[in-house]
Amino acid sequence: MQLLTTAKTRNERLNTCRACEHYREDTRTCGPAVVGATVRHLGEELHLCGCVMPIYASLRTAACPLGTWTQEVDPELVDRIRESLAAYPGPELKSNEVTAMHMLYNQLARKPQAFTQCRSCLREMYRDLQKYIEHVDAK
Ligand code: SF4
Repeated sequence: MQLLTTAKTRNERLNTCRACEHYREDTRTCGPAVVGATVRHLGEELHLCGCVMPIYASLRTAACPLGTWTQEVDPELVDRIRESLAAYPGPELKSNEVTAMHMLYNQLARKPQAFTQCRSCLREMYRDLQKYIEHVDAK
């Protein structure tokens, strides 16, 4: 798997970061270096990663913690997620559907989730996939 994104994508991401209120010009990090910080964003508490952005923005799997820019994802994976959400409308999934959604989620996630039957975890995972597709479709 190719780890690095294109120079064009990296530069677009960095330009977005430089215009962001959370970007630290002195350390070139997203929030305070290494430790990051928790901020309120659109009604949610989210954690700035503290990453060194010229490095982090080079990674295909990197994503802005506030969702301002997303990881580079294979368009086929995005289509499969969209189709699965349409095929399984609602977070109350049967076990075969849970497995399918989990596999899609882990292909997308920066931090893959351990397989679980926890209903609230599954609902959260499902909503995350919905939010991701909404974000992609809004672009
Ligand atoms: S990664 Fe997101 S939150 Fe962090 S500096 Fe860049 S645009 Fe801002």
